[in-house]
Amino acid sequence: METPFDEAKPILDKLHQSGFEAYFVGGAVRDFLLGREIGDIDIATSAKPEDIKNIFPKTIDVGAEHGTIIVLHEKDQYEVTTYRTESGYEDFRRPQNVQFITSLKEDLRRRDFTINAMAMNINGEVFDYFHGKDHMEQKLIHTVDSPKERFNEDALRMLRALRFVSQLHFTLSFETEEAIKHHVHLLDAISIERKTTEIEKLLKGVNVKSALNLVIQCKVYNYLPGFVGGKVMLEKLSSFPFKYLTTREEFWTVLTYYISPSSVEIFLRKWKLPNKLINSVKNNLSFLTIQLKNRVWTDLLLYEAGLGTAIAVERIRSILLNSQQIDENVSKLKVSFTQLPIKTKKEIAVNGHDLIKWKNKEPGPWVAQVMEEIEKAILLKRIENKRSEIKEWLSTCSQDFDQNY
Ligand code: ATP
Ligand code: MG
Repeated sequence: METPFDEAKPILDKLHQSGFEAYFVGGAVRDFLLGREIGDIDIATSAKPEDIKNIFPKTIDVGAEHGTIIVLHEKDQYEVTTYRTESGYEDFRRPQNVQFITSLKEDLRRRDFTINAMAMNINGEVFDYFHGKDHMEQKLIHTVDSPKERFNEDALRMLRALRFVSQLHFTLSFETEEAIKHHVHLLDAISIERKTTEIEKLLKGVNVKSALNLVIQCKVYNYLPGFVGGKVMLEKLSSFPFKYLTTREEFWTVLTYYISPSSVEIFLRKWKLPNKLINSVKNNLSFLTIQLKNRVWTDLLLYEAGLGTAIAVERIRSILLNSQQIDENVSKLKVSFTQLPIKTKKEIAVNGHDLIKWKNKEPGPWVAQVMEEIEKAILLKRIENKRSEIKEWLSTCSQDFDQNY
């Protein structure tokens, strides 16, 4: 039977030939058993990082001290990690010490949840020492061993638990949920970047509603930047049909719209998002505010927004107004965009040099101002985007321009 692991089998083969144990582990095994599309394939092995580097011709050392080497094989890359245990967790996050070990079972024991702590060998046999399969059947997120201890070691696991609720449509085991309620304050120690990754995955999941309800019930929101005291807002947000959103920009636009922070910029910076994303979200929000009042995309607005922003805004606006025709609205908008007389400034048939020549005037700020008037006249369909017509139009309104500019 073909499996998504076939292409990675030569890696296990080579490790076996050198006398080492090697298994597929973690999220890929979980997703495969659940019949979900699998993401990155991770491999655990008894080989030490030095052995891994010697065995494979192309490797990248991403953290040999923690036991992880990336192996490049054909077009793909695989994280190959030496069996290890972790100890000396400082400040409720990453471990201080990593010891390389020889037991697969002990390697699986350090993993967060039972469904993430299964291994699969090259023949597809599953090694499940912590009831991962049972919990999978019961659709349960449950820590390997005591949730209290596991959350004390690394508080991020609490956010990971909630994002798996959203991604897999599972529920938390009673003990896991209780432990989150009691240890939620430990999230203070977790870096923003790690929180951002988990929250984004949570919002893209299939059961955002339940996950956000847990964010409320377990008071996780008090440890998310800009969310403090945002319970009522989160309740509203939890009913938002996130499934219709597609891009990272759209997710952050919706989140920010509901949070309604006094400064959008400061809120997004707290999440340490890249500048480009922050600017897109700000842009989306300003057009969304206009469009929620206007409801009609004038040619001028559509042009100013640009197609990307307009699509995002239209999608979100349609959802917020409970439209039954989200895709239709977006398609109509795309058609309107293609019918614009110009899509960018570059398409204007004349340029600043033409104006200077025709007017026989020194260059200056007037050039940009007159170009803007031309742009507007074309978009409002007062003139066609043709050199001759623009030239004539300029000469007929010459007096106005000469007075103003
Ligand atoms: P995804 O589908 O998002 O990749 P994943 O379960 O594969 O989910 P990764 O972050 O890729 O998550 O981690 C791979 C594996 O490493 C997990 O399945 C789990 O076994 C282990 N793991 C990851 N993060 C932690 C953590 N904070 N504590 C314990 N084990 C972890
Ligand atoms: Mg993964």
